Amino acid sequence: MSNMKIIDIKTQDIRFPTSKDNLGTDAVHVDCDYSATYVTIFTDQKDLTGIGLTFTIGKGNDLCCTVIEYFKEFIIGKNIEEIEKDIASIWEKITNHSQLRWVGPQKGVTHLAAAAFFNAIWDLISKFHKKPLWRYIIELETRDLLDKLSFSYIDDVITKDEAAKIIDQKKSNLPSNLDDLNSTIFPAYTTAAGWLGYSDEKMKRLVEENLSKGWTHFKMKVGQDIERDIHRCKLVRELIGDNNKLMVDSNQIWSVNETIENIGKLKQFDILFYEEPTNPDDVLGFKKIKDAHPDINLATGEMIQNKVMFKQFIENKSLDYCQIDSCRIASINEILPVLLIASKFNTPVIPHAGGVGLCEYVQHLNLINKFIISNHELLLSEYAESCSEHFENPAIIKDGGYVTPTNPGYSVKIKDSSLNEFDYNNGTYWK
Ligand SMILES: [Mg+2]
Repeated sequence: MSNMKIIDIKTQDIRFPTSKDNLGTDAVHVDCDYSATYVTIFTDQKDLTGIGLTFTIGKGNDLCCTVIEYFKEFIIGKNIEEIEKDIASIWEKITNHSQLRWVGPQKGVTHLAAAAFFNAIWDLISKFHKKPLWRYIIELETRDLLDKLSFSYIDDVITKDEAAKIIDQKKSNLPSNLDDLNSTIFPAYTTAAGWLGYSDEKMKRLVEENLSKGWTHFKMKVGQDIERDIHRCKLVRELIGDNNKLMVDSNQIWSVNETIENIGKLKQFDILFYEEPTNPDDVLGFKKIKDAHPDINLATGEMIQNKVMFKQFIENKSLDYCQIDSCRIASINEILPVLLIASKFNTPVIPHAGGVGLCEYVQHLNLINKFIISNHELLLSEYAESCSEHFENPAIIKDGGYVTPTNPGYSVKIKDSSLNEFDYNNGTYWK
């Protein structure tokens, strides 16, 4: 068992035709075909594979697949324990590849590809140890864990010593029997009712359905027409009453000035947070919006492209809710340092989810954050049941929260039947 070697890596361009039903539609993404750049790492033991993905919305998924071809040489022929030990240096080599970095660095297509690749490696390592990823991470010795992460370019804001203190303090509160954690239900909010392409009737029906299922937090898409946004916010607020929470997401469509003006019009609906109001790189623009409306909260992160940008947003207090994405930045190596920065600044983390596999991933990140990183009282995560029917073990929701996953790995194995049908190059659907 101890010498298991990586013998091959396969990458597949998987696309689900979700644009037919307006799933995922928002102010700027009007025709999403929810897609996955799907990576399978094969070992010389037939039943042990590492599976990972990154989420895209159609065209460009092929570009992520192409980039991953360049990463293969870094792990093929190595054994799993060697990769586990050297994962931090492999991460730095890949995300700072001497030629590929010119078309990055650490952003865009190359970084999405790195996310899929390292998500597959972390899946493989945790399966090798026969543990769900969250459990594997919280059981690592603190220094061992920190030595697997990347602190490059962020040590002006957090050092490994500071990170160790945060984790050790949290670990002191863990139960002596970690199996007790398996009964955790992690609170979630739903986006499934408020896609922008849905009619009033469809939205009303879905909100009512979700209310009856026990959801208490609802997010809706806004941003194409402020008068329609006001109409929809009024409709949903009336449906959910004053005690449930309402959030809005305009997916970057407004300028800073438009945001300031439109928030003024939407405030009357008691909005918990305004998500991605403007360009996701505009650290200072977000701050200007907050200065204009000191009583509102801003959320962003699904398109914050690396830990250096997160560092700026959090340290500058340009965001109030940190929406880490499991496939936008390059996997556990980079996500955990961002969670640690958020913890240091007492910023709540509400992970982005809803695309292909994102709910399956964030259920692990939520638990890692709750058990060994964050001290913030607010625990919340996004949930949107999109494409879950294609997963062998989809995230399970009970009483408006995520049920804790207990199968080994990082939870994103897609059914063979779905792979065969929706592979964009040779699947039966696309032929
Ligand atoms: Mg969003």
